[in-house]
Amino acid sequence: MNTTNSEIGTTKTYKDQHYKLVGHEPYTRVSDGSKTSLAVWRSACATCGQPFVVRTPIRARGFQPTRRCDLHKQRRVKVVPV
Ligand SMILES: [Zn+2]
Repeated sequence: MNTTNSEIGTTKTYKDQHYKLVGHEPYTRVSDGSKTSLAVWRSACATCGQPFVVRTPIRARGFQPTRRCDLHKQRRVKVVPV
């Protein structure tokens, strides 16, 4: 596998939020059954600051991961203080 741009420990920044690559996962596309890999990133939720994990396609053209944990990514509401 060509991992030139996906070494474990790689860090990226998206909208001032930091992501660290912590692993890879095999993934089979539902659409055509082809096998690929997902990059597994760790970051901190933009809403609550809790660490969370987000997976992105290794071959994605852009890097646009979710910025929030499972608890907060569903809600597209404005951020309210707890
Ligand atoms: Zn959160």
